[in-house]
Amino acid sequence: TKYVYRFGGGVDDGGNGDKNLLGGKGANLDGMASIGLPVPPGFTITTEMCTRYYQEGGKFPDSLYDEVKRGIAHIESVTGKKFGDASDPLLVSVRSGARTSMPGMMDTVLNLGLNDATVEGLAAVSGDARFAWDSYRRFIQMYSDVVLALDHSAFEEALEIAKEDKGFHLDTEMGAEDWKALVGEYKAIVEKLWGRPFPQDVNDQLWGAVGAVFGSWESDRAKVYRRLNDIPGEWGTAVNVQAMVFGNMGDTSATGVAFTRDPATGENAYYGEYLINAQGEDVVAGIRTPQYLTKAARERAGARPLSMEEAMPETYAELARVFEILEKHYRDMQDIEFTVQQGKLWMLQTRSGKRTAKAALKIAVDMANEGLITQEEAVARVDPAALDQLLHPTLDPKAPRDVLTKGLPASPGAASGIIVFDADTAERRAELGEAVILVRVETSPEDIHGMHAAKGILTARGGMTSHAAVVARGMGRPCVSGAGSLSIDGKAKILRIGDRQLAEGDILTIDGATGEVMAGEVPTVQPELAGDFGTLMGWADKVRRLKVRANAETPADCQTARDFGAEGVGLCRTEHMFFDAGRITAVRQMILADSEAGRREALAKLLPEQRSDFTAIFEVMAGLPVTIRLLDPPLHEFLPHEEAEFEEVAKAADVGVETLKRRAAELHEFNPMLGHRGCRLGVTYPEIYEMQARAIFEAALDVAAKSGEAPIPEVMIPLVATRKELELMKAVVEATAKSVFEERGKTIDYLVGTMIELPRAALMAGEIAEVGEFFSFGTNDLTQTTIGISRDDAGRFLTQYVDKGIFARDPFVSLDVEGVGQLIEIAAERGRKTRSGIKLGICGEHGGDPASIAFCEKTGLDYVSASPYRVPIARLAAAQAAL
Ligand code: PEP
Ligand code: MG
Repeated sequence: TKYVYRFGGGVDDGGNGDKNLLGGKGANLDGMASIGLPVPPGFTITTEMCTRYYQEGGKFPDSLYDEVKRGIAHIESVTGKKFGDASDPLLVSVRSGARTSMPGMMDTVLNLGLNDATVEGLAAVSGDARFAWDSYRRFIQMYSDVVLALDHSAFEEALEIAKEDKGFHLDTEMGAEDWKALVGEYKAIVEKLWGRPFPQDVNDQLWGAVGAVFGSWESDRAKVYRRLNDIPGEWGTAVNVQAMVFGNMGDTSATGVAFTRDPATGENAYYGEYLINAQGEDVVAGIRTPQYLTKAARERAGARPLSMEEAMPETYAELARVFEILEKHYRDMQDIEFTVQQGKLWMLQTRSGKRTAKAALKIAVDMANEGLITQEEAVARVDPAALDQLLHPTLDPKAPRDVLTKGLPASPGAASGIIVFDADTAERRAELGEAVILVRVETSPEDIHGMHAAKGILTARGGMTSHAAVVARGMGRPCVSGAGSLSIDGKAKILRIGDRQLAEGDILTIDGATGEVMAGEVPTVQPELAGDFGTLMGWADKVRRLKVRANAETPADCQTARDFGAEGVGLCRTEHMFFDAGRITAVRQMILADSEAGRREALAKLLPEQRSDFTAIFEVMAGLPVTIRLLDPPLHEFLPHEEAEFEEVAKAADVGVETLKRRAAELHEFNPMLGHRGCRLGVTYPEIYEMQARAIFEAALDVAAKSGEAPIPEVMIPLVATRKELELMKAVVEATAKSVFEERGKTIDYLVGTMIELPRAALMAGEIAEVGEFFSFGTNDLTQTTIGISRDDAGRFLTQYVDKGIFARDPFVSLDVEGVGQLIEIAAERGRKTRSGIKLGICGEHGGDPASIAFCEKTGLDYVSASPYRVPIARLAAAQAAL
């Protein structure tokens, strides 16, 4: 097997831009080189080597040494420099690069190849001793951190002390001799902490770095990132070794990052930041505040330091030309890293740029309209889950705001919450159900878990491409970064802005779209669903086969769902209506009655209430199917808890409190989810289902008479395991329909069907379909009963199950296609065999999960049903599944 692929200088080993093999970065370096863009020569060690490295317990095969030697020889021949040559040394960068980018998660070493001898050569060749010694000290610092895993604070302290001794404030004030002296101290630190001198052999340096990059794939922070982003551990990372180019060789040198379109808004305008006389890490790490790329952006921000367009017009023009070539070549918005070395532009990286949901949408729609991609490709481009960001509220523009300061609008959306100053506290308080805003000077990969737990992130330092900004955008968390007037005292847990002071626990609001930071909570408004969103949804609707319904039980939720494009209600859980303050007493009276007569008396009070519930829903959903599930949960969920509640029910039912309490005790169940619930309630108390069926049919007839448009009720019997249960319950519904239709002298169409929520029901679907006119897969219960994991208790251990790879994802979030999926396939097949064309849907939480929706498409279900806010996600996911 070949493990090393060379690129640049006219050499191409034929990796063909294969991301799986070369990793994203390697594939695109190869790609850029092959279309003639200026890429420093280098080579990529494949992801397959990473996998093999781990299989063989962290060892490299002998063949790799020869391949890498050939790779170095390639770089030497293109650059005309020699690795380890004391007169004109070749320096290389060693970077990780997995299939998908994992910003800041893995390791990079720059300036590799410097030692006590080559540093002198670099000084001589560049004519800049200061630059050479600065590069060497950066290299020692990075290498010690990444490869030797030494505590980086020792190096930072040494630098601070060196500056203090000289009375310097900035690194730029340090001269060649100062850096040289610091190098001496750095080497002493290495020897002290590591026990050995800093490696002088450049090949030892190289292999150390290669091993460290492969090793970083299994670092804790990389693992957390993979878990949050569903990246499999088997993918591995590639290692890219490339000739160094320097953005810190004086004022004709620079380094920057850029996007071919605005990653926050999607606007078709170049967007980026650069720094003169700096190395790439300076921009990304947010240590110096970068300057704008374009004149327009600088002017809009009212910033003073010249943009690249103004300061280096020729190089900028070349960069812009590269942007155009790259967008056409990759047919997507690109995120680029570049360096200018003494006036010459070098491309260090390109990849499809991460973007906000808003930008993803706009870019996809714009590119389709520009003819760069097709409408179908546009549909495929937008991550359905990311739509969530767009569907959520933003700050009410009319609400008063107590604006404390303004930072950069790093990731859109608005969030309010209590201030916390560290990631662990963020996680802890979020677990207690509190909304938190994580406030940091700047974030680092160690803060990931806290950023994930937070509703929003606010930082005092760092630009739009800082760690906080990139990660927050990826996670869909609102973020304001670089709010420079913030002064954070992490120890005292105090935040000062001007003369205002806030403490941990105080409420703060951030608006990631404007960068505003406000005291207190600011009310929000619903998002705008027209424009690009509407256009893309229209394209998605043309492509998809699956219908999309909503799980909704209030008229307001039904309206939201309809506005979001729901084509019916797939699950109306009637028990939610029973908790209404006005009726819970009657519900309790019904449950606690010990005779049919007693129950009927209570049910008579509930009938008009249920009827009006259904009337309101049918009015909103006029002309569309509405699946109404008859009562499902274990009765004890409705029982009174407090003395006063018992007294109230006793009065309504005209019985003694003690009788009620005895009855309540009788209703106790050890395992209620497998107890007296679902159709078992209907079997034992048919009068409950009778009342509900009556309410449904009377409401349907009322609405039909009033609006002329009849709803299509689909009456659904829950938790059926046997054909006979369904037969009995269907008879109750049909008898009720018959009497209502006779009383009214009118009829409407309706269906009676069942949920498939139990393995037995799935297996016996053939005979159940003889009775049931439709199936709706209740995959919440089906998952619970198939795996035998309680859906209400799983939270305590499921994350560990996911961490340990037992499940790739939480099976209550994303369908266990392999296991539970089989039961769905069996039920669909057997059901169709008995009743050809039987209507099949899914109404568990999985109905709004894109991966599960892909499975539903494959299984040929007729519809998925999801909560109202997930309806657009489901529409888009259904379209992608059909492509
Ligand atoms: C299900 O079990 O999947 C379902 C939709 O019903 P519920 O969540 O109400 O039990
Ligand atoms: Mg259920």
